[in-house]
Amino acid sequence: MNSTVSVKEALRGLIEIYENDFSHGYQGNDKEVLDKLFLKLIVAVTRFAQGIRYCGKIECRCSPESNIKFLVEANYDTIMGNLLAGDYGLSEVPLSRIRDFLDQFRFHEVR
Ligand SMILES: [Zn+2]
Repeated sequence: MNSTVSVKEALRGLIEIYENDFSHGYQGNDKEVLDKLFLKLIVAVTRFAQGIRYCGKIECRCSPESNIKFLVEANYDTIMGNLLAGDYGLSEVPLSRIRDFLDQFRFHEVR
């Protein structure tokens, strides 16, 4: 998979945004739900970064690639808009790059 940021940078950006922009900046009533979603996304990207796999098939439903795809597809506007709103912009990793990184998993094929 091609990406404009490395997996390590994307993960760093997500964690920085989660701990700073989201945790301190997001004010919505659905914060608890979104908090859980954000953590699930961070776990999935961590699995991808660390190669934590339960079987060898990339296209399997259990792969980190599929995991990220399902999360992004089911919650696209929430992830791209609310989670990655970047209220304080404290991460050095550009938001648009993180969005692009996540976006590419929509094209991942699950069989
Ligand atoms: Zn599997």
